[in-house]
Amino acid sequence: MSRSKVTPARRQEIIALAEAVAETHCPARFIDPICIMGNKHITHSANYYGDGFDGMLEHRKGRFHIFCNLDRLGNLTSPRARFTQGHELGHYFIDEHRNALLAGAPAHFSIADQPDAERIVEQEADLFASHLLMPAARFSAVFSKQPPGLEGIRGIVKEFNVSCASAAIRFVEHNTQPVALAYWRNGKPPWTEVNVAFRNIGLHHLMTRSDLLPPDCATSLAIADNPNAYCEPKASVSLASFWFNGVYPGSQQDIIVQEEALRLGRFGVVTILRPLPNSK
Ligand SMILES: [Zn+2]
Repeated sequence: MSRSKVTPARRQEIIALAEAVAETHCPARFIDPICIMGNKHITHSANYYGDGFDGMLEHRKGRFHIFCNLDRLGNLTSPRARFTQGHELGHYFIDEHRNALLAGAPAHFSIADQPDAERIVEQEADLFASHLLMPAARFSAVFSKQPPGLEGIRGIVKEFNVSCASAAIRFVEHNTQPVALAYWRNGKPPWTEVNVAFRNIGLHHLMTRSDLLPPDCATSLAIADNPNAYCEPKASVSLASFWFNGVYPGSQQDIIVQEEALRLGRFGVVTILRPLPNSK
């Protein structure tokens, strides 16, 4: 992937900023982005703006306003709405973003929770939102009580009222056990993440072609689920040589893999892969 990424030092800076904002405004309690907006005198409104964006932060004469698009967010307290509000607060709290708006840069339309966002400012705002809604110390405490795999991700979703996609990204990053995710978004190539523990056993890059998936695997079944209905997670068992590029059938790396997948409404499907427990 050729897109620029936020540098590790900058990541740490934004993560620390988000955690400080969370602990200042919502100490030891549920993170409420609307309460943070109120504390900072940022007004907000919600309306139906079609499918073009999730949220927007606008500046006029020293005052900031956040627009929320209910066509994409559902309501103001949905996990996607909370993430979008967190993302727009990122554009406010990150000095460079706020100063650009104060200097007259146009407001930009944000589509939040896009792990492969091309623009650095969007990646930074998403990073801020993730660590505002799931501050690192609180996340570690909750993570340590979760079962492995998709069930653990759903536990995090419940605890923090965040989207499954944003919980899954943090779950994979934080995990010391091998785990990988693919986020399939309606015809586009999936966004993938393979964590360090998986890479340490020689498994690096996920296969990304939905047309190669067997029709009865968990991911295919989840892709076929009705995007407008409540969907149950699916599970199946596969081989690393199918899921990981460059792994030869029968080789030492060709371990048995547990595949779990869940449709996230109309926003796509998340697949979680990990070694099948007790397999080698
Ligand atoms: Zn944005």
